[in-house]
Amino acid sequence: MSTSRILIVGAGFSGAVAARELAAIQDRKILVIDEREHMGGNCHTKRDPTSGIMLHRYGPHIFHTSREDVWAYVNRFAEFGPFINRVKARIKRGVFSLPINLGTINQFFGRNFSSEEARAFIGTLGDSRIDEPRNFEEYALKFVGRELYETFFYGYTQKQWGCEPRELPTSVIKRLPIRFTEDDNYYSDRFQGIPREGYTALIKRVLDHPDIEVKLGTAWQAGMAGEFEHVIFTGPLDQYYGHHLGRLGYRTVFWERSDHLGDYQGHALMNYPEVGIPFIRKIEHKHFAPWEEHEKTVVYTEFSKESGAADIPFYPKSLGPDKILQARYLEQARSETKVSFLGRLATYRYLDMHQVISEALDFTPRLAEAIRRGQPRPVLPAL
Ligand code: UDP
Repeated sequence: MSTSRILIVGAGFSGAVAARELAAIQDRKILVIDEREHMGGNCHTKRDPTSGIMLHRYGPHIFHTSREDVWAYVNRFAEFGPFINRVKARIKRGVFSLPINLGTINQFFGRNFSSEEARAFIGTLGDSRIDEPRNFEEYALKFVGRELYETFFYGYTQKQWGCEPRELPTSVIKRLPIRFTEDDNYYSDRFQGIPREGYTALIKRVLDHPDIEVKLGTAWQAGMAGEFEHVIFTGPLDQYYGHHLGRLGYRTVFWERSDHLGDYQGHALMNYPEVGIPFIRKIEHKHFAPWEEHEKTVVYTEFSKESGAADIPFYPKSLGPDKILQARYLEQARSETKVSFLGRLATYRYLDMHQVISEALDFTPRLAEAIRRGQPRPVLPAL
């Protein structure tokens, strides 16, 4: 193989966008490898042969962003159908809307508050002794109080992360807004949707370029690097280093599939925050494509567990010991000259699709310029 080639490890969003952007601005051949037999990483979607439903094979992916250029970018490669994520939580008392909004508050407390009354009421429930919340639990107790915290957050979080919420950083709960309006959109971004033909079709189009070759079913091996001018690695950071300092903590998720006729739960995502229930949510895939009609329905019941050596890592845990380990691996990563690390797994951060695309779009032109000038490669700000 010639040395003017670039190797990209991973055909998820990070790898695909980096490949496309490098191909667009550089006179280089790019090889993208992925150990799985499909493109799209954990965004992979596949039409189910029995029902015809587009399945989000590695869990629900709803695209949302406020960055106009990122929205325009993904729309270049796929037509998006309109989708607003309206999540519900089922508890013994009934079904409630998430994120916590005016409707949730009124239903939960049996009241008829206006926005400002609800704000004042929730203010009285919050723990005012907490000045600067230091973790997930303190943040919840300060801003919604114990009852809402224990009902909607405690059990779900303990099941999803396998630890006490007080061990998690505030950044995890800050992903969810608390609203005093009737807006029950799970996200607050300007743009939201789902590609009509799924994410794999989108990523396939991103990678469809004469200078990009894709080899699926091809695992990364350290010895490969020597054959390339540069490597962009999007797999797990600790895997790149052969786990020689230890393993970073990840959560993995897995599903039990059930098939039904008609409709199962009336919408895509039903969370089960109660501690006594072993799963965390039920996902009814056909509702991710409200523009389609299907007689049957497919439901995935989602469970979470610690990610072992043979599992697919999904969520970086980032507990105290993980952060120390992450810092040590990142220190090594910063000193590399021929390898760049991009994306959720390679930087060990809890990033969404739109964030990894933003980073790939921002990073790749700087990398291309450095390669062209023969200068040291740039480092992602996150590193
Ligand atoms: N969360 C919760 N109850 C819910 C939904 C979410 O306690 O019903 C917590 C949970 O800790 C989760 C965090 O809020 O990790 C962020 O939720 P989000 O939906 O952003 O997680 P995702 O599954 O998208 O990564």
